[in-house]
Amino acid sequence: MPRALILAADVVFTCQSCGDCCRGEWLIGVDDAAPARLKDVDWARHDPALGAGEKFTRLPLPLASGERMTFARAPSGACAFLSGQNRCGIHTHLGHAAKPQVCREFPYHFVETPDGIAAGLSFACSAVLHHRGAGLAEQASAVADVAVGSARIEKLPDPIVLYSGVDIDWPRYRALEDGLCTILGERTVPFPNALLAGSLLVALAVSLARLEQRPSRGAGGQTLLGGLAELARDRHRPLIEPALTVRPRARGSLAYLAPLVTWLARRPRVWGSCSRSTAITSRSAGPPVVCRTCWAATARSTSPRSRA
Ligand code: SF4
Repeated sequence: MPRALILAADVVFTCQSCGDCCRGEWLIGVDDAAPARLKDVDWARHDPALGAGEKFTRLPLPLASGERMTFARAPSGACAFLSGQNRCGIHTHLGHAAKPQVCREFPYHFVETPDGIAAGLSFACSAVLHHRGAGLAEQASAVADVAVGSARIEKLPDPIVLYSGVDIDWPRYRALEDGLCTILGERTVPFPNALLAGSLLVALAVSLARLEQRPSRGAGGQTLLGGLAELARDRHRPLIEPALTVRPRARGSLAYLAPLVTWLARRPRVWGSCSRSTAITSRSAGPPVVCRTCWAATARSTSPRSRA
């Protein structure tokens, strides 16, 4: 029986046909089935602009994800199937279902969690980055179709590494992430201070998890879930108030964000929402929990280089 799909309420995406994902430096692995399925299509008959040349190229070495083929490129660097108005030639002439799975799937990624399959989106897509399109919940059946064909659904690590030598389970992870998203979404708090409060939350969670894991801990001692619940009841004021007393330097060190940054780098691939632009972030080992615009405003810009 298919697992339930988890779709965040404030996450949107509709392709804007900007063509960015079909150009540039992406090395896009294509499963062998797609070239086999499309090899006899007379593309020039469908659209003279698509020409008669090879549409796929064999890679000298397989990608880490296993694919051995990629798209051929036009002299401009664009995918060989990209035609006028930034339209995909396969989609235009043969329909969405005929496209290679990697193209049908972008910018989604899926993670199997104990609560169901969480659908996330990549900031490498400009529609995601700029929060354009319909809510995922409104297009649930289309997202489910993509997920059904996916061979890339990641499994949540169990346990989840919170910090070096400190592992937590899924309920603790969810409680921590909910707290972090609440803090980062607090619009009355300047964003650098919200990041600092988030960093304090992660540092506190690490301490509580360590305490909880001590064999000598007596019954009734503080637990991570208990501490997070207490903070949530207090609307995270014990973290936000001290964070608000700090005046971030315009070009300061990022050292004070170390706990948050370390956690973001290790967290599993699940979704979450950007606090400021309400754009989706992927709860993943890759992109940060805030959107690129927010992150750049605070610290440094991050440039997505990988489409996986
Ligand atoms: S980058 Fe996003 S919006 Fe642009 S063509 Fe690709 S999927 Fe569509």
